[in-house]
Amino acid sequence: MRVYRRISELKRDPRLRLGFVPTMGAFHEGHLELMRHARRDCDEVGVSIFVNPTQFGPNEDFESYPRDLERDLSMANSVGVAWIFAPEVAEIYPRKAVSVHAAGVTERWEGEVRPGHFDGVATIVLKLFNIVGPDLAYFGLKDYQQCIVVKRMVDDLNIPVELKFVETVREPSGLAMSSRNAHLSASQRQQASSLYEQLRNAAAELSPLSSQTEQSVARILEMARQCLLKEGLSTDYFALVDAESLLPWTKGVDNVRLIAAARMGTIRLIDNCSL
Ligand code: AMP
Repeated sequence: MRVYRRISELKRDPRLRLGFVPTMGAFHEGHLELMRHARRDCDEVGVSIFVNPTQFGPNEDFESYPRDLERDLSMANSVGVAWIFAPEVAEIYPRKAVSVHAAGVTERWEGEVRPGHFDGVATIVLKLFNIVGPDLAYFGLKDYQQCIVVKRMVDDLNIPVELKFVETVREPSGLAMSSRNAHLSASQRQQASSLYEQLRNAAAELSPLSSQTEQSVARILEMARQCLLKEGLSTDYFALVDAESLLPWTKGVDNVRLIAAARMGTIRLIDNCSL
């Protein structure tokens, strides 16, 4: 497996169908699953490892974000990745004069709690697409709003890449795997699994959606928030949304997603599911 630190080292072979997985490292099974999907679909798989400072807010965990390049390299190697691109911050951001803003789909939910986060995400993803030139790019549905933001950017800016969204990989308890789970104790992990449990419960109660009213949906969502609070999780949001626009559900919309974010002390968890 090749390891590149500089943009100038990346050389695209136009004969190969290239699959690309952008990441911030600290790999777990979720990351490996994206790489395996890419390996199946493509001739060559490249992965970037870059903890992108512009998507972290001033009071967020950029400095303490888990980093373990040696371990990441051996995990990526084990699933057949051809190369890793792991640049320094200065290589990617000699300046920060130009950025991408996806209007609409970034206004609520993560975008509201983390102002500027999705501008950072969209900008780094576009830069990486331009640096790497992939045919296909892989993202995890765990970060559902991120998938929608990237899709909007690709559609609206006519970026020549095919997006693939991969199902969330979970612990046996249901907890979505995340690099930040490294900060959780065993008992916190157990507690954290109630986020997905409440998402599944709410999804079951909401089905069939055609029989729901806006009041009954509001009641089910509020019940889930109360249950989470009893488990020690305070929700930033727990919402039923239009799966494409991310606007709150209204009667008649049937392509939906349940999305949630909750805090357990200083630790923030996000998750989502379909109905
Ligand atoms: P990150 O390193 O957290 O930026 O994640 C890199 C990519 O892996 C993103 O597309 C994430 O959505 C995806 N990802 C993170 N966790 C999971 C998971 N548990 N299952 C599937 N994909 C994931």
